[in-house]
Parts: sequence; C-alpha cells; structure tokens
Amino acid sequence: QRSLVWFRRDLRDFDHAALYHALKHSQQVYAVFVFDRAILDLLPDPADRRVEFIWESVNALKSALQASGSDLMVLHDKAASAIPLLAERLQVEAVYCNHDYEPSAIARDRVVESALQANGIAMHSFKDQVIFERDEVLTQLGKPYTVFTPYKNACLKKLNDFYLNPYPVERYRAHLAVCAASAMPSLESLGFVRTNLAQLKLPTGMAGGQQLFEDFLERIAYYKEARDFPAVKGPSYLSVHLRFGTVSIRHLARSAWQLGGKGAEGWLNELIWRDFYFQILHHRPAVATGRAFKPEFDALAFPNDAGLFRAWCEGRTGYPLVDAAMRQLNQTGWMHNRLRMVAASFLVKDLLIDWRWGEQYFADKLIDFDFSANNGGWQWAASTGCDAQPWFRIFNPITQSEKFDAQGKFIRKYVPELAACNDKEIHAPWLIPPLRLQALNLRLDQDYPAPVVDHATQRAQVLSLYKASTSAA
Ligand code: FAD
Repeated sequence: QRSLVWFRRDLRDFDHAALYHALKHSQQVYAVFVFDRAILDLLPDPADRRVEFIWESVNALKSALQASGSDLMVLHDKAASAIPLLAERLQVEAVYCNHDYEPSAIARDRVVESALQANGIAMHSFKDQVIFERDEVLTQLGKPYTVFTPYKNACLKKLNDFYLNPYPVERYRAHLAVCAASAMPSLESLGFVRTNLAQLKLPTGMAGGQQLFEDFLERIAYYKEARDFPAVKGPSYLSVHLRFGTVSIRHLARSAWQLGGKGAEGWLNELIWRDFYFQILHHRPAVATGRAFKPEFDALAFPNDAGLFRAWCEGRTGYPLVDAAMRQLNQTGWMHNRLRMVAASFLVKDLLIDWRWGEQYFADKLIDFDFSANNGGWQWAASTGCDAQPWFRIFNPITQSEKFDAQGKFIRKYVPELAACNDKEIHAPWLIPPLRLQALNLRLDQDYPAPVVDHATQRAQVLSLYKASTSAA
C-alpha cells in the first residue's frame, strides 16, 4: 500500500497525526509540500518573513526526511491541482493531511478531495494543530461556547492523556518511501527574497521551535508576572512555530499541564485562547467575511481618516508606546501581546478607524498571522467580538505606557528620537515644557510627531459612536 502525506501548516516529522496514520496504514509513504501559487502569487511584497520562515522550515523537514532515507518533494504550483496529479503519478491509494480551519483552506481541500475521489484515491484528514476542535467542547446544551472562561473550564475538565499523548511516528518510520533526494527550489525561484529574519532572534524549523521552548521552560514559572511587559523576556515567542506546526501543540500543552503552578497554568490558558478562537471560526465562519461577531456593531460608522491610518501604520502617531509597537511590527513582523491590545484599541477608539483596516494591516505584517487569533484579537479590542472588552472601556495610551513600560525601555528601543527623555517625560512628550525640550534638543513635530489626536476628545467621540450603534440595534 502506498500513500502520500501532504504537509501544510505542520512542518515537523514527530508527533504528527497525518504522518503517523499514513505510516501505520501503508508500507510506502511519500511526502510533499507545495508552495501554493494560489496563496503566494497574491502576496504583495517579495520580502516576506513568513515565506522565508516556511522556506527554512520546509528545508529542515526535507533534510530530516532525507536522513531517514526518504525525501520531501517540494513543489511550486497550485496545490488544488498539483496534489491530485502527484497522487495519480505516484499511484497512491490515499492522501493524508491535517485539518485546516480557515474557510479558504477548507474550500481548497474540498476541491482536492473530489479530484482525488474521481480517481479512486481517498483523502484522510486529522486533528493536529489544536487540543480540542470543532464540536469537541460544547456547553451542556450542546451549543458552542462564546465566553472564554467557561470554555476554558470545560477544556481543563476534559483534558487528559488521550488528547495530549504524542503520535509515535518513530514506531513506523521504516514505512517512509525510500527515494532519491530531490532539489529544494530556491527562495528566489519562488519569487521571494531574503528578509532580516536571520538577524532576528527567531530560530526556524523544528530545531528552532525546540530551542525556544527549552529556553521558555526555564522562565515559565514567572510567565504571569512577566508576560505583560514588552521590555521583559516574558512570553514564549512560539507563535510563529505554532502557526506553521514546527512544534506540536500536544507536546507544549502536555508539558505545561504536567508542570502545573501559576506560570505554566497561565501559559496553558493562552494555548486554550488559541483553541477558543479556532472553534469560534468553525462555528461562526461569517467572521471570516468581515462580519462583527456581534451584528449590532456591523453598522458602526467609523470616520476612517486615511492620513491617521497611515500615521498609525508607520508608527508616527505621537503616542510613544503605540509608535514603538507599530515599529516593532514593521521591523520584526512580531508584536508583544500587550502592545497588540494597545495598538488595536488606539486605532479603533482613538483614531476612530474601522477595526478591519487594522486587522488587514496585521494580517499583512505579522509573521505569526493566524486568521482566527487575529480576528479574535481585533474584535476583542474593538468590542465587537465574543467575550470582548466592553465598548465603553477604552485603553488610555499614556497610562498603559506608564504601567507596562514604566522606564520607557521598550520605547527607547524603537523610538530612539525620545531616548534622552527621562522616565516620566517619555510617555507623553507633548507635555514637556519648552525649555526642557530645548535642553533635550527635541523639536516636536520635526524630530518626533506631536500627537495626531487628543485622547480625551476622541474618547468622547468614540463613546457616542458606539452608543448610537447600540441604541439603533
Ligand atoms: P505566549 O504569551 O507565549 O503565548 C503562547 C501561545 O498562546 C501563543 O504563541 C499563541 O499561540 C497563543 N496565544 C496567546 N495569546 C493568545 C490570544 N490572545 N489569542 C489566541 N492565541 C493566543 N496570535 C497569533 O498567533 N496570531 C495572530 O495573528 C494574532 N493576532 C492578534 C491580534 C490582536 C489585535 C491581538 C490583541 C492578539 C493577537 N494574537 C495573535 C494573540 C497574541 O498576541 C499572540 O499569540 C502572542 O503575542 C504571541 O506571542 P508568544 O508566542 O510569545 O505568546
């Protein structure tokens, strides 16, 4: 029996549901990854850190399979047609892959499945990238959860070895098809160029994921205390590895679950947020078509000033913490979670710009972009989502800055224009008296922007905007 494993966002050769099942049920297992032209051809920028991250991680997976005497075929084609053609050419009986929950991927998988079926080839797909999926955790009434805490409690109650045990791929590794090594297409041949990924502290591939996780385990006990401060090495930085499956969610969740304690429990909580948004997307796919989770907010009439939006994107709003956050995103493709909340809230509730604009900007820039978490995060900040921040609660960008970057360490890194300001001045440089500005050699509006809006004025405006929308509903 022959089969083909189609790798997608699961770029590893251990604890892998599809690979395990394929190896268990067939004697000769081929492996393929497709750089999908249906996705890549739409990317506007040839310098895309995600493509480079995937390229590096696919290369590492290919080397690992070659070390087992097999290979990973790497294609640059439209996956929807290339997979059925390859399956036919290899004369396999089945194609194995892992579930994807994004509507466009689901549509693609349906096309592939029916083309395979037309040739008598089966397609088997498995849960792999989440702990619980789809309908696995429902309320007592059999309904999907829309509030996180009861969802989390239900998950923790249900969690056991069955859901967390690894798939022992190594048991059947001998069933990998023996094949000659094929060439890896270069990044340039895919239409992309190198970015600054190598300069970032972001190791790629399975080894990179393992290295980051081992490093994080040394400080996981302090996760809760440290996770909110962008200048502190607090979180795990594993999001991109979770996005592309170079780590196993079961391995991460099991480690945190077994470890216990405040830090590990807090981190497990975040992994459950990830599952939560995946199940929201499954049950409410309309959120993938730009709809608010709470329909009464679909009518919000944001003024959408394009100039303000540009200032936000470029990190020149005059609010130092917001600017530092946006510059971190632009320069590294990653943004600290606290700052994602602050920057998103600022766009919607201070600049009065539609959250969908920000959602799209993050989608273009984030190396860890995942539709469900990004949409969930944006709708949370805009108060349009399930279990979101209430609409009348508005982050104050100055107090957030004073609280979470008290010494301005993070701001100084990304907004060097303000480096000479003292720890008090750095959060709101427009309040610095003229003589002191002179002493600092800082010209507001020239060296660093004056604030593009006044927080108190905007706060009043956004409150009436939301009020109008809720009373109209
Ligand atoms: P850690 O703190 O180490 O958390 C571990 C893992 O838990 C993360 O890697 C992630 O997979 C998951 N996680 C943590 N927080 C959340 C959350 N609030 N929602 C869902 N999953 C979470 N996360 C993404 O992975 N992709 C996105 O596109 C994304 N967009 C976001 C947009 C906004 C507006 C907001 C507020 C949050 C967004 N998040 C997103 C969630 C969170 O900011 C990142 O997961 C986190 O900052 C990644 O860093 P880390 O791996 O060091 O996180």
